[in-house]
Amino acid sequence: MKHHIHIIGAGLAGLATAVRLRAFGDAVTVYEAAPRAGGRCRSYHDPHLDCVIDNGNHLLMSGNTAAMAYLDEIGALDTLAGPREAAFPFVDAVSKARWTVHPGKGMIPWWIFDSTRRVPDTHVSDYFSAARLLMARARDTVADCVGTSGPLYRNFWEPLTVGAINTAPARAAAALMRPVLMETFLRGGAACRPLIARHGLGAALVDPALATLERAGVTVRYGTRVKTIGFANNAVTALDVDGTEVALSPQDTVVMAVPPWVAETLVTDLKVPPAGEPIVNVHYRLPAPAVPPGGVRIVGVIGGLSQWVFAHGGLASVTISAAAGCVDQPAEDIARTCWHEVALALELGDAPEPPSRVVKERRATFAQTPETLALRPSAETRWANLLLAGDWTATGLPATIEGALRSGFRAASLASQRQRH
Ligand SMILES: Cc1cc2nc3c(=O)[nH]c(=O)nc-3n(C[C@H](O)[C@H](O)[C@H](O)COP(=O)(O)OP(=O)(O)OC[C@H]3O[C@@H](n4cnc5c(N)ncnc54)[C@H](O)[C@@H]3O)c2cc1C
Repeated sequence: MKHHIHIIGAGLAGLATAVRLRAFGDAVTVYEAAPRAGGRCRSYHDPHLDCVIDNGNHLLMSGNTAAMAYLDEIGALDTLAGPREAAFPFVDAVSKARWTVHPGKGMIPWWIFDSTRRVPDTHVSDYFSAARLLMARARDTVADCVGTSGPLYRNFWEPLTVGAINTAPARAAAALMRPVLMETFLRGGAACRPLIARHGLGAALVDPALATLERAGVTVRYGTRVKTIGFANNAVTALDVDGTEVALSPQDTVVMAVPPWVAETLVTDLKVPPAGEPIVNVHYRLPAPAVPPGGVRIVGVIGGLSQWVFAHGGLASVTISAAAGCVDQPAEDIARTCWHEVALALELGDAPEPPSRVVKERRATFAQTPETLALRPSAETRWANLLLAGDWTATGLPATIEGALRSGFRAASLASQRQRH
């Protein structure tokens, strides 16, 4: 009889685990508490806007190797859209100045020697601050390494840090910026093309995965919450699935791919990093699709409330990360303020504010500060048949799609090794 692998949570970490495991032919069941999969990376129909929106804009980079491998496995590589060459357009909400950062093609960052490609008003020597980030100690914040002043800070390090780590540079763990730089900007232009889901997160990252799992005979049970986990003799022995006990043999494996605030309730002595800052998104239903100047669908906004404006189809969507300062403002106020910045970014003139939806994700990521990094647990636990996955586990990466998927692949690899020994 086949041993069973139970995956708790159908966010991207749980889905990646299941997608990878399907190739081994193991018996796999996924339990998802919500009525649909995707977790913090999902699409749904919004009745007010009468269209499908994402819970939040998600940016991928072409250098995200696990994301590309996952999309390849689920046959969805063509669901991403982005420029042919790396380009990051910005607009200053105060001065109205526009510029585009054009990382060069090669591995050597020659582009920083070209004033038309780098951040305006910066000098080549400013970019040496990247070296301090690469050599950061575990206790360093991003601000410890790059300071908090000057055009390069305001127009590059601050938006990059807040976007990648969802934390202001004064608190963000510098160690998390190292892999961001190493795996994207320092690998050349081919690795730092900004990519967004052409038809939304569900169509790119979730629905093709579910179709792949269905074809492989993997069961996904929606609206099914694992309430408690039973332990005995150093192993998981049972799951309480919505009040029904599922007994496990020691050869069965459990992959717990839930957020940290759930994980600590299921495994009482598990140490987890605390929740971090919210992310707020504003989606505007435009009367006609807008194409940003230059054709790149994502525009950075400096000096405003909005940080990034995504243009996709008839939607313009704003991201505000590290949003503790605005999350409690009324939605109408946030939408009104951001609309002026969207109109500026997309060159829509004085177009009237269209219908909008503000989505506040209060527990978007874990607190990505130097103090919390040591609290990220590894995939293997002290229980022989319990593995962990999720963007908050010890991936070495920020809490991102790439981190969630890598954690899922790692859990799948460990689970399949267990099944075969
Ligand atoms: C607004 C926002 C914007 C973001 N932007 C970006 C971005 O631009 N780029 C990027 O790379 N990343 C971004 N992220 C981060 C990214 O979404 C996450 O890192 C990733 O989705 C985490 O996936 P996960 O599987 O680890 O966790 P989750 O998505 O939280 O999945 C956990 C799943 O477990 C389920 N669950 C919980 N408890 C139980 C239970 N008891 N039983 C069964 N199931 C349970 C949940 O319902 C959920 O589906 C963003 C996140 C947010 C919220």
